[in-house]
Formats: sequence, structure tokens, C-alpha cells
Amino acid sequence: MVSFHPDAKFLTDFAAGNLALSEAICVAAHLEFCSKCRSHVQQLSDLGAQLMSRLEVEPMPVDEQDAGDDGFDALMQRIDAGDTGMSISPAPAPAATARVSSANPLGLPRVVQKLASEGVQSLKWGQFGKSLRIAPIRIDSESRETALYDIKAGGQMPEHEHRGEEITVLLKGSFSDAEGKYVKGDFVVRHAGERHQPTATLDTDCICLVSLEQPVKPSSVWYRLLEPLVQYRLSGLSN
Ligand SMILES: [Zn+2]
Repeated sequence: MVSFHPDAKFLTDFAAGNLALSEAICVAAHLEFCSKCRSHVQQLSDLGAQLMSRLEVEPMPVDEQDAGDDGFDALMQRIDAGDTGMSISPAPAPAATARVSSANPLGLPRVVQKLASEGVQSLKWGQFGKSLRIAPIRIDSESRETALYDIKAGGQMPEHEHRGEEITVLLKGSFSDAEGKYVKGDFVVRHAGERHQPTATLDTDCICLVSLEQPVKPSSVWYRLLEPLVQYRLSGLSN
């Protein structure tokens, strides 16, 4: 059962279209697993619509109204457009939950399938040590880094400290760290200065969608050995 959710600010900013695309994708992925947050976003959207109607603003052009019918479609358009600055419409997130099908063997959220339209396996996966693979996703020019992480069953990520906010959405499997255990759908936020060392559970691989505000600071020898690779991966981004 999902027990870690985006806070009220994330949901409000999502409904208002104020999140960076990388963060919005993480919230959208969570919403596909979480009916509670979907209904919160719906309420916020309804409230926003009421406020707008009280302000008696000019009616939106028809094509924008269409986009407003489904926040998910608007997000997809934003991804297609490479984030042209169009806001995510104040509309409910998709009601459909991620389903396992032949076209989507891992049952990943639609927003993630969209990012990897040729299939998740077609992404450029880099191997880091025995148990960690990372596939960077370039989605826009913002300074956040977006990536899929695949931690082998029982595998441990290097301990690391964050220089900025990190959002992790669990898409498959589960992992734990000193703070607790996280399962599919959980939306976990870590802040600058926090250190942790996630470990995938023994029975299954763990796949996460990760949005990083800043590159992490390595805090173990093991990770320092990997740093040239990691820095290469991050080149052209925030540093
Ligand atoms: Zn939720």
C-alpha cells in the first residue's frame, strides 16, 4: 500500500501547473498509483476553476480547453513540446492505474512509458557497480536531472548525501533505508544535507523514477571511484 505522498504544496503546484516538468512527471507517476492524491488534485482543480469563474476571465481558446479536460494529456503535450512553458492544466490526473500488458510488461506508469517510447529497455542504461543501473532521461533544459534507477534485488546503492532536493517514485519492487521501507507508488522526498543508503529488497529488482535538484555528493570510497563516470553522465547539466 502506498504510504508516502507528495505534500499539499506539491499537489497544489501540480494542479496549478507550477512545477518544473521533471517534478510534475514524478507527481503524475505517483497519481497513477494513488487514488487519494488523485482526488486531492481533482478538488484543487475544481477550486481553481471556481476561482477563475469568479474572476470572470476571458474564456480560453477552444484548443486549450480541450487540453484542460485531461491533465495527463496536457503533461504529455508538454513533454512532446520539450517543455515550451505551457502549464499543466488544472485538471484531474489520469484515473487509470498502471497496468501490466504485453506492450508494458513492467506495468510502468503511462508517463514513464511516454518518456521511453521505444520501451524502457531502449533507454541508455549505464551500469554502476554490480547492482545499480541508471538511465538518464533528458526532458528539458532545466537544471534538474531525471533518470530511471534499476537496483538489483538485494542490491545496495552507495551511501550518498544530497546537495539539493531528490524525489524518488517507486515504480516496481521496494527498497528500504534507515528511515523506512518504500513500496510501489511511494513518493519519497529527500532534502539537501540528508544522507541515505537505499537497499532493494531481496526478492525483486527495484525500479525508481528519480528527479534530482543537484548532483549528489559522494560520501563513500566506492562512490568516489565511480565519480568520473557519474560526472561524465552529469556533464552539461547543472555544473
Ligand atoms: Zn498519494
